[in-house]
Amino acid sequence: MVGGVQEDYPRDLLELEARFSTEEACREYLLKLRWPDGFICPQCAGRSAWTSKRNLLVCAACGYQASVTAGTMFQDTRKPLTLWFRAAWWVTSQKGGASALELQRVLGLGSYVTAWTWLHKFRRAMVRPGRDRLAGRVEVDETYVGGVEEGVRGRQMVGKALVAVAAEEDGRGIGRIRLRRIADASAASLEAFVEEAIEPGSLVHTGGWEGYVGLEHKGYRHEVTVLRGKRQSASKLLPRVHRVASLLKRWLLGTHQGAVSHEYLDYYLDEFTFRFNRRTSRSRGKLFYRLLQQAVAADPVPYKTMVEAAWARARTPKM
Ligand SMILES: [Zn+2]
Repeated sequence: MVGGVQEDYPRDLLELEARFSTEEACREYLLKLRWPDGFICPQCAGRSAWTSKRNLLVCAACGYQASVTAGTMFQDTRKPLTLWFRAAWWVTSQKGGASALELQRVLGLGSYVTAWTWLHKFRRAMVRPGRDRLAGRVEVDETYVGGVEEGVRGRQMVGKALVAVAAEEDGRGIGRIRLRRIADASAASLEAFVEEAIEPGSLVHTGGWEGYVGLEHKGYRHEVTVLRGKRQSASKLLPRVHRVASLLKRWLLGTHQGAVSHEYLDYYLDEFTFRFNRRTSRSRGKLFYRLLQQAVAADPVPYKTMVEAAWARARTPKM
């Protein structure tokens, strides 16, 4: 249950095809995701609206015209929503991560660039705006990803990137995680990550690195576990973050051949986090629901802005 509204999603591909065969059905679904408690006029907070011929919601009180896709990932799209819904379904059903070439093939899209753009839009939507921070007992550590040791060959070689990892302790297991590329392992970088990822008052569990010594001044409880003797490996001290780090590296290798530029890496970290934090939602439908829910909450990202930095540098992007 979210916002008092029953989560409502297709359970398999057949249901998806049957239910979302028209633009009207898709728009109706997005409308409910965007305004779970019913339409609220952005201008006058009026609750009553009618639908115009151009599929705009017209506020009955002030005449304001709202579009269900304005301000979302689907703003200004020229492709039918039925196609977007199929793309969302396909993206959520890819366990190892999604490739633009495959998406292009599956949807029969004419252009590779369109498939690539859509994938990146979905990746952006995988990060919930204003999402909850981690809480309770949380392990934090940093790890390097990328670089030659990961099996990168020749022209795709990139430098290593430092990634901060936070993982909730859930009994002996792992709860939710957060990942973020950081510039360095300085106190400023690590504290900024902790503050963004973890609720103050939580217990932050780290190794002995001095970059973490200021956490108590930031309102966190801090537990330090240090290596005692050579027998104990770092992975035993903070087993959850090390498990997450090794899964992340394996996933990057398998899905992206380990060849990830630093700009793309941010998106891949979001994609990995989205999939990891929902690894127990076995239902594809539920992932689909979450992705679309976040897609209508996300700011639209014009293709131009999204690729300005990244695209130029990647002549043959690995998706
Ligand atoms: Zn109004």
